[in-house]
Amino acid sequence: MPELPEVETIVRDLAPQLTGRRIDSLQVTRDQRVLERLIRHPTARQFVQRLRGRIIASVTRRGKYIVMPLAPRPTAKSSLDGDAESERLIVHLGMTGHLRVWEPEEAPVKHTHLRAMLDSGLELRYDDQRQFGRLLLGKQDDLVAARAFPARLGPEPIHGDLTESEFADLIHARRRPVKSALLDQSFLAGVGNIYADEACFRAGIRPSRWTHRLTVRERRALYEAIQDVLENSIAARGSSIIDYVDGFGLRGTNQEKLLVYGRSGEPCLTCGTPLQGTRLAGRGTVYCRSCQR
Ligand SMILES: [Zn+2]
Repeated sequence: MPELPEVETIVRDLAPQLTGRRIDSLQVTRDQRVLERLIRHPTARQFVQRLRGRIIASVTRRGKYIVMPLAPRPTAKSSLDGDAESERLIVHLGMTGHLRVWEPEEAPVKHTHLRAMLDSGLELRYDDQRQFGRLLLGKQDDLVAARAFPARLGPEPIHGDLTESEFADLIHARRRPVKSALLDQSFLAGVGNIYADEACFRAGIRPSRWTHRLTVRERRALYEAIQDVLENSIAARGSSIIDYVDGFGLRGTNQEKLLVYGRSGEPCLTCGTPLQGTRLAGRGTVYCRSCQR
């Protein structure tokens, strides 16, 4: 599943191609069941009607969500349209979703569910084989009220949005295994299974440790490790684990740099001990019994 670094990479790729572009027309799959599954809010019909003719004001990220605020309709009273008030197109890629800009003459790949023709002459397309992704359109408050978007998303762990002392307070207040805290999007936005395991390894902390039992030094190490693994992965254009590709359809290279994720049973790259695989917070978890305490 694409996590913060993968979504950040896509957002950076798409921003220059989409910012200021108008969506002239839309084409969606005829499979109503797929459509209802993907478009969580509003209805598929309203989604298409309300998106047509809109201008994408910017392309941003919040946690694992791609957030595209739309310019106010020309008829709307624009003076009242603050950031929280403006409508936005939001995409969550789920497991296998891809959002990319294509040349119109390129044949759509299998499982292309949405095509938006842009005034640049290019097409924004969404394909998703397993259909765990979701597409949302509306004002933030309405999406939360419709339970289509989380009411509470934790702070962004990078870009200086979270200080070390804020992180220490936050994690100390949560009495549960470190791994489940890291996966909880209302605690930190954007960290998933890959980077939770990688951060724990770098910090030398077992994922099963209780958050409120971490020492001051361990909390600091974890704070730094989270930022390191996310920023390093962004620099490597994300981890292509299942079928993640960036905004140009290319694979990232960070999967080659992962130290524990997906390496259960293989030797620890630091000490040579076979890495331990287990289940924690309902997810496959890998750690080193000797390096992580
Ligand atoms: Zn080790």
